[in-house]
Amino acid sequence: MVIKVVESALMCHRCKAETPHELTYIGDHLAEAVCLGCREASGLSGRRLVATYVAKSVENALDWPARLGRELRADFSVTTLTLPWRLASAPFRLAREAMQLYRCHTEIATARRSPPRPEGRG
Ligand SMILES: [Zn+2]
Repeated sequence: MVIKVVESALMCHRCKAETPHELTYIGDHLAEAVCLGCREASGLSGRRLVATYVAKSVENALDWPARLGRELRADFSVTTLTLPWRLASAPFRLAREAMQLYRCHTEIATARRSPPRPEGRG
């Protein structure tokens, strides 16, 4: 999977405290960080977000035959049993990643348009 989401505690300048953040990675690039306290989002935007995703997806697709070969050599029976499911579920994974990408872009665009909240209203 190209996009992965993890949670981590980070300092939020708006909350002025360490709060849980949702971090979205595209490959090993941090694409977005959202404070779960105030929903402030920051990260890559627009074209850069999509370009990073496309580059990582192409890199992932080009590496797929080599990875499959390694998996087949490591455990032929498990790989051949799971391969049909992996191939059938690929369009759904891509659709889910497209939705995550859209959500990243929308949250960051919304955060950039909204003015900062007044002090003390968190
Ligand atoms: Zn916050």
